[in-house]
Amino acid sequence: MIIDYGNEDEQYRCRCNTTEFNEREIRKTWKCPHCNNPIEILLRINNKKYVTNRIKADQLKEGSLFAFFNSIHEILQVSVTNKNFIRLALKEYGGVEKDKDSFITIVLGSGEYW
Ligand SMILES: [Zn+2]
Repeated sequence: MIIDYGNEDEQYRCRCNTTEFNEREIRKTWKCPHCNNPIEILLRINNKKYVTNRIKADQLKEGSLFAFFNSIHEILQVSVTNKNFIRLALKEYGGVEKDKDSFITIVLGSGEYW
């Protein structure tokens, strides 16, 4: 499994209950075992905390915020390169290719909401 961005000290939870998950409970799908929604992941990007989801590259949507090497870029366009890869056009960056089965970290908002 490829995880595109992450920290050693991430925290995991879902809005359906108040318990924190261990990584090993959720790392195969990054979805909640109770309600099947994406897990909320609290992590650092450039030393600030953010709430994120981790979703497969082939489920990304235009307009999402992509965590990438300690910065955050809006996804302007998602296109299929070939059967194995997705190409993302990132605002103020340009194009990157991702394995369609890799997990991409999408920023939902500031960690202050946690
Ligand atoms: Zn849940």
